[in-house]
Amino acid sequence: MVAVKSAYTPTMECETEHFLMAQRQLDEIAREMGLDPELHERLRYPKRALIVSVPVRLDNGSVHSFTGYRVHHDVTLGPAKGGIRFHPEVNLGEVSGLAMLMTWKCALMNLPYGGAKGGIRCEPWNLSTGELERMTRRYTSEIINLIGPDKDIPAPDMYTNEQTMAWIMDTYSINVGHTVPSVVTGKPVSIGGSYGRHEATGRGVAYCTRRAVSRFGISASQPAVVVQGFGNVGAVTASLLHDSGYKVIAVSDVNGGLYNADGLDIPRLKAYQCEMGKLMGFSGGKSISNSELLELPCDVLIPAALGNQINAKNVSKIKARLIVEGANGPTSPEADQYLHEKGIIVVPDILANAGGVTVSYFEWVQGLMHLFWSEGEVNERLEQIMGKACDQVFDMSQKSGLRPRMAALRIGIGRLAEAKRLRGLYP
Ligand code: GLU
Repeated sequence: MVAVKSAYTPTMECETEHFLMAQRQLDEIAREMGLDPELHERLRYPKRALIVSVPVRLDNGSVHSFTGYRVHHDVTLGPAKGGIRFHPEVNLGEVSGLAMLMTWKCALMNLPYGGAKGGIRCEPWNLSTGELERMTRRYTSEIINLIGPDKDIPAPDMYTNEQTMAWIMDTYSINVGHTVPSVVTGKPVSIGGSYGRHEATGRGVAYCTRRAVSRFGISASQPAVVVQGFGNVGAVTASLLHDSGYKVIAVSDVNGGLYNADGLDIPRLKAYQCEMGKLMGFSGGKSISNSELLELPCDVLIPAALGNQINAKNVSKIKARLIVEGANGPTSPEADQYLHEKGIIVVPDILANAGGVTVSYFEWVQGLMHLFWSEGEVNERLEQIMGKACDQVFDMSQKSGLRPRMAALRIGIGRLAEAKRLRGLYP
């Protein structure tokens, strides 16, 4: 019999450019660390992915069907964990790539979770509160078989917040017939949320920044910081760094940036944003574009807004000495390589922004125990976990010569690989 050479290469519907980027990153570190090829193969694809249609009655009386997703990348270490985002760029590939990042992030932080991500493709800024609520509730009921405190615990991500989590928790609870606060994290404190969760991602970014500045010898009496984004992550990071004596010279929101070489008055800027709903028009700085902001000379650049902000097009113009990734995936792989060759240190997203999921873990634990901690206790435990992870990543990076991103992946994937090896392949 003539052997037929198979032309079949395994592919999945999630293999968009975004997903392939995450997969290539895994392939690179797998080669580097000599990962068992069977474990490598098992980690290259999401475990399961659900696509749902989310019909919503709009305020004008018509019905529109949005598309929603929930992806579990891996659940070896515990229930799937990860945010839900509302954005026009949400698609199967994007959430699958981000779910993979969540697996590495949780493993790196030593949290008993697997990785997930979900979202709805929509323009949330064009939806009323009522439309957002109906969309969130219908999406929850469509993915209800996937989620649960032991199965998959969603949290906020881009353009979702405490209110979104409250709607998800309520919809889930009504469907199962009793209140289940631990089905989501990032809830309001009054319905079982944790003190400190709202600020946790920014707090973790600020903590990593201070740690990296001292570790990598960024010697400046008052390091100059640029923060892209002034939302939940960027504003908290900017405030905390300002309080620790850093000079925050520029920040931005969706409409553009504000710059002041002598340092912005962050408390006054926050009060202005709270009153006006925007940064533009603030008298204590001059307005600059988002691309000018990224290219400013500074000690630390913190991209804390969207993905793919530092890329092949602008990377040669970046003048920061240290980059701390507040957002998920703000640096493209080509840019990352270029920065490494230039000696610009990048503290990767899976470490820098892991404060959010770490306090999510605290919220989940408190909910399951029905025993709640003070804000001081939460922040203290967060610093312990972040400190340990930073030390492990920076130590490995300095010892092995791997850039911090690769060191972080190596630690996370190494931990997960050990667990998968022990559990074995079923059947
Ligand atoms: N969406 C956040 C992240 O990307 C938080 C996830 C969580 O708390 O589960 O890490």
